[in-house]
Amino acid sequence: MSEFLPPLEKLIEQFRKLPGVGRKSAIRMAFSILELSDEAASDFSAAVIEAKEQIHNCKICNNLSVDEVCPICSDSTRDHSLICVVEDAKAIMAFEKVRGFRGVYHVIGGVISPINGITPDKLSISELVSRVKLGVKEVIIATNPTVEGETTATYIAKILASTGVTVTRLAYGIPVGGDIEYADEVTLNRAIEGRRTFN
Ligand code: ZN
Repeated sequence: MSEFLPPLEKLIEQFRKLPGVGRKSAIRMAFSILELSDEAASDFSAAVIEAKEQIHNCKICNNLSVDEVCPICSDSTRDHSLICVVEDAKAIMAFEKVRGFRGVYHVIGGVISPINGITPDKLSISELVSRVKLGVKEVIIATNPTVEGETTATYIAKILASTGVTVTRLAYGIPVGGDIEYADEVTLNRAIEGRRTFN
């Protein structure tokens, strides 16, 4: 039998679905919800539903977007012949914060990880290849500098080799084992400036 009342246990289980939330944190969050006013609690649940209903993936780059095409892809002042490939939309936010990059993005939706059942076909790589064939000059691969991130970068570079596009990789600035999302402005800008051709 559960140590909490069934509705509370259910709430705890929902919070546990979030990354990095263990049972202890989930219990704390669930109790905080119970302390909210009825109005605040209903605002909270409405925000969850609204975000899920209104936010989709951009049909060009997979970035999060309210519209069919995200603001970056619809921006004609950006360089659409330069694509920065990232693992997820959070990385786009990190790049956009530093404003050093004026190209566009492509979110592949993760990294190749056979052990977790993530094979290349589960990622948005064929969509990237199709975009590149439309006249892209350079692809910067900005997957995180982890083992899986490197494997994914190498795989993408190999796939793109036949298209003749210049493929570069963020070179230095981001620590090995680090996460682009948490990189500071200077580090990320240096990484962009120091990118190199793949192989
Ligand atoms: Zn887009």
